[in-house]
Amino acid sequence: MSAMTGAEMIAVVVSRGGEAPVGGLEAIAECAGNAVVVDIDAFHPASLARRIAGLVADHEVIILPASPDGRDLAPRLASELGRPLLAGAVLVGSGTATVARRGGLILERHAVTGPFVATLQPGVRGVPVGLELPDPVSLPPDPGAPSKAGDRTAPDAEVLEVSAPDASDLDLTEATRILSIGAGFTDPRHVQLAAEVADALGMSLGATRVITDRGWLPFERQIGTTGAMVDPEIYVALAISGAVQHVSGLGDPDRIVSVNTDGSCPMAALADINIVCDAPSVLIALADRLDIEVAPELRSPSDPKGTVHG
Ligand SMILES: Cc1cc2nc3c(=O)[nH]c(=O)nc-3n(C[C@H](O)[C@H](O)[C@H](O)COP(=O)(O)OP(=O)(O)OC[C@H]3O[C@@H](n4cnc5c(N)ncnc54)[C@H](O)[C@@H]3O)c2cc1C
Repeated sequence: MSAMTGAEMIAVVVSRGGEAPVGGLEAIAECAGNAVVVDIDAFHPASLARRIAGLVADHEVIILPASPDGRDLAPRLASELGRPLLAGAVLVGSGTATVARRGGLILERHAVTGPFVATLQPGVRGVPVGLELPDPVSLPPDPGAPSKAGDRTAPDAEVLEVSAPDASDLDLTEATRILSIGAGFTDPRHVQLAAEVADALGMSLGATRVITDRGWLPFERQIGTTGAMVDPEIYVALAISGAVQHVSGLGDPDRIVSVNTDGSCPMAALADINIVCDAPSVLIALADRLDIEVAPELRSPSDPKGTVHG
């Protein structure tokens, strides 16, 4: 994908608990294995940027995965080094970067003179078999730390409160259980109902691009190559055909459940449990079991109790 050599490019990957973040290995592969890995357990991105800057300043292009920590660190590292940041790149070359905008509908190619920092969109380039996260480096002391009592520390983000994760607004890339909806839903009120059902089940709500293109859910809920790259343990796909642009963002779930009227669609072929029936009826039946109120108009007149036939 890149026309540059690994020596000119270096990946900066922030891991936690020794685990590679989403897109971390792809960033390392993009830089031909040339990487600085730091393992953190607290959130001090400005301090981290100051401590990393000197380690990577000689490299013309610095690539971070567009993971949560990578997106926090990248602008601070770019500022520390006085470089431009190209966020959400899908392609990085010598003096150019192509970035995805408007949910991947537009690809912008930027010519860049001089060194720059880029974040790489996960799920775009793939990872060679066997590539593992290198050992983390020991970081130098923070040049912004106070040298004597009374000195002020250079500014950094301050954690005021850590909220317990709420499955309904959890970043999809971190969700372990996802309920997703696709084009088989024809009423926007189904989306609200799906959100309530997902919430009651402790699942995060995802969607295909058809749903986000309709404006029924924000882009952050779109899963796929131009949306979120997820890796849940359980993935429930309601009325989703399983297009390659969608399933390539799914990671490797332990269990996939497909509910679709077409039992031979690609999603059904991927699924561990394949339910061939009407997905809105399944959603309503789940809502009934979970004591969630269902708008009467969503119920079929011939089937007001939402019985599922399959
Ligand atoms: C450059 C590019 C990037 C893209 N990026 C993404 C991306 O990031 N994410 C993404 O999702 N897509 C992406 N797409 C779009 C992708 O190609 C598919 O069009 C999309 O994933 C299809 O979504 P879907 O499964 O909801 O819809 P469809 O493919 O239309 O499938 C609908 C499914 O619902 C089933 N169905 C219909 N009615 C019912 C019912 N009553 N009950 C049960 N099942 C029913 C049908 O049998 C069918 O399988 C991209 C496309 C392009 C060209």
